[in-house]
Amino acid sequence: MDPICTRKFYGDRKQRKPSPPRSNWVKMYRVMPSHILGPTQYWQEFYKQADALVASVERSTKTDTLCTFAYQQPSDGSRRFVVAHPEVYWWYYKTKPPEERCSYEVIPKDSPCWLYLDLEYPIDLNPLCDGSRITRTLIDIIRAYLLNHYHLLCDRSNFLILDSTSNKKFSRHVIFTLKDVAFKDNLHVGKLVKTICNDILFYLKSDNPSHGILNHFNKADLKEMLVMTQHGEKLFVDTGVYTKNRHFRVYLSTKWGKQSYLTVSADCVHNPVNKCKEKELGIFLDSLISYFPNKQNLIMLEFSNRSDVKAQLYSKVPRQPSHENDDQTSPYPEIDRYISSLIEPGKIRSARYFDKNKTLRYEIYGNRYCENIGRYHKSNNVYWIVDLNTKKIYQKCHDADCAGFASMPKSLPEEIAFKLDVEGDTFISGAIVDEDVTEKT
Ligand SMILES: [Zn+2]
Repeated sequence: MDPICTRKFYGDRKQRKPSPPRSNWVKMYRVMPSHILGPTQYWQEFYKQADALVASVERSTKTDTLCTFAYQQPSDGSRRFVVAHPEVYWWYYKTKPPEERCSYEVIPKDSPCWLYLDLEYPIDLNPLCDGSRITRTLIDIIRAYLLNHYHLLCDRSNFLILDSTSNKKFSRHVIFTLKDVAFKDNLHVGKLVKTICNDILFYLKSDNPSHGILNHFNKADLKEMLVMTQHGEKLFVDTGVYTKNRHFRVYLSTKWGKQSYLTVSADCVHNPVNKCKEKELGIFLDSLISYFPNKQNLIMLEFSNRSDVKAQLYSKVPRQPSHENDDQTSPYPEIDRYISSLIEPGKIRSARYFDKNKTLRYEIYGNRYCENIGRYHKSNNVYWIVDLNTKKIYQKCHDADCAGFASMPKSLPEEIAFKLDVEGDTFISGAIVDEDVTEKT
């Protein structure tokens, strides 16, 4: 039987070059000029956040760190996801009409991120509140905590203040930016911010307050941070923004259907971390909570509780096994190579050998062509099975609609089938013999 010709299998290479869906919103009609040292032009849209987050990890390289953005469709406000290098995203995003800029950064769970704050209060209930002053007080308190807990000396120029205050609502994002310093993930940020807020509330409530850090502040200044809301009096800090895979609105974006854009606030004295020729791009990059192009040098801060505080180098922190650590080779290098050629430009994510039924299973990424639907899946990956008994291969699929589907089996190329007869069985039976020996002794 003929070995499978990849061209016949996929159609002509030129035609199957992956191209983004035509209907996408951010990227339209313009082509970013690229040069050899520029960021990767990779751009992919997703319906499902989980798929976008996987792609942003898989497609990131040593030189290109990709981010996941969520955007709301101008038509109905529904969310879609884009994975791209932030500079590339910015290039397309910045030219959109303001009312169509409804973009969010997805802060991936378990990923390093900067300390960020969401500050808000209704203006009509707090007519005398000075939002700028209480922002400054809070920043100074955070500086004191960072110094006390991590011996980090920083000043107000390390805080980027974005503002989208309307005549109804005071609304700000504050981001603590420090080169090569981040929190382990946003849960740690959340624990620190909640601890600070609780300390402030407790301090204000007690008749005879004493607190190592808060003692240095004027009680009247602290009290100003309490604002009136529909649900009573509370701090102007929203502590609900530290959830997993949180969406955080990006620079120059508005909430859908509103027209209040996040811009740099008048009282911001931020010193840029990302120094770019294009100043606005620098602000955009600095405003991203989870974008760290150089993770290896990152110092990671941890905050579990006030007596469990740590700082350590990112490269020294054991991480959960990721796809990168999966075994991408099987005991059969020829079959690995053959599968690789078959799935180009996709890659093998993992290769596993199942002794029980003598099959190999190859998980694929970067190529979602599925024979069941005769085209590429938008989000679900496919996988290939090699049956070493019959020396045939077939494709299966993770998409729910393709459950139970297996493509028509094709024979392995002759030269591989032949090698299997000679070496493969030896390998397998050899392994079994070894086992027997062990059992007997
Ligand atoms: Zn499928």
